[in-house]
Parts: sequence; structure tokens; C-alpha cells
Amino acid sequence: MNRPMLVEKMVDVIKKLPGVGPKMAERLSYHILKMPENEVEKLLDSIQKARQRIKSCSSCYNLSEQDPCPICSDTSREKRILCVVETPQDLIAVGKVKEYNGLYFVLGGALSPLEAVGPKDIRIDKLIKKLKTDNIGEVIIATDTDSKGEITAIYLAEIIKKLNIKVTRLGYGLPMGGDIEYADEVTISRAIAGRKEM
Ligand SMILES: [Zn+2]
Repeated sequence: MNRPMLVEKMVDVIKKLPGVGPKMAERLSYHILKMPENEVEKLLDSIQKARQRIKSCSSCYNLSEQDPCPICSDTSREKRILCVVETPQDLIAVGKVKEYNGLYFVLGGALSPLEAVGPKDIRIDKLIKKLKTDNIGEVIIATDTDSKGEITAIYLAEIIKKLNIKVTRLGYGLPMGGDIEYADEVTISRAIAGRKEM
């Protein structure tokens, strides 16, 4: 027997989410159908509000309700150190490290020759522009430790060194091939403390 058309539509929409296959989409759909209506409203409302109100900070491209974001507006932060990450989730992970008190820049991805992601597809031009105007003394490259993150780090280091800005890369301790987002606070803290000049 076929599923009702409306359930079919819901499954189709949900399975477009990353990491959700057809089976999971079906399970979630039937779960939602069993939820109390006010819970479903809360779910939809929170998704819609976040989507409408959360924007990219025009200075660091972190996601925030404010522009500039609270990190960029925080006058107690060390403004001459910039930590470059791939995604807003990576920024959150580094942000848990209390010893780091500098600013951030979110690239919006990593270079990937295999997937045809080039310098124009991530915010490299915007980063260079920021470095030229904001008087940054050190850039800490905290891209992932997989091949895409490494390629991106090497590419960025070449450009940044030409601007006479110190470039460092997170030191040992981070698992190779890993995502900064999933590294724990202690590991990132050690990696920042042990950062090496590129
Ligand atoms: Zn910001």
C-alpha cells in the first residue's frame, strides 16, 4: 500500500537534509505525525525564526542575529590575531578554548580540486581584503586536518606570507583527517598552544 501523498511529500523534503537517507526520512516523518500539534508548531517556528533572523556577520562571516556579531563587537578581544576556520561550527569548537581570545574568519568551506571548489568558491578574496585593512599581526589557520583542509592551509599560507603577516597552523594533537568541529576543547587548546609557523 502506498503512503498518503502528504506523507510522501514530507519524506521527499526531509531526505534532502544532509546525512538523512530515505529510511531515516520515513522514520522522522512518521515520528512527526505522532507528535502533539503544538510540538510540531514549536519545531517549525524555531526553524523559521532561525532561518529568518540568523545572518552572516559582515566582518567574520560567523552566524549571528547581530551584525557585527558579538565576537567582532567584543572590545576586550585581541584584534591582531585572526583564526581562520572552514565553518561556523568549527568556530564554535575553537571558541570553547578559553585561552584563545582573538578574532575569527569563516571561509565557508575548503579548497577541493576533486570537487572543483576553487579559491573563488570560498571567501579567500574577502579574507585578503580583511587582512589588508584590519592590521592583523598573525593568522592562525584552523582548517580541518583532511586533505582539503591541508590544501587550503598551504594555499592561504602562501598568500598571507606575501602580506608580511605571520601565519601559523594548529600543532600536533589533532587527529589527522579530522574535522575541527568534532575535536574536544583540550585537544584544540593544545593545538593552539603548539601552533607552528608555516
Ligand atoms: Zn563577526
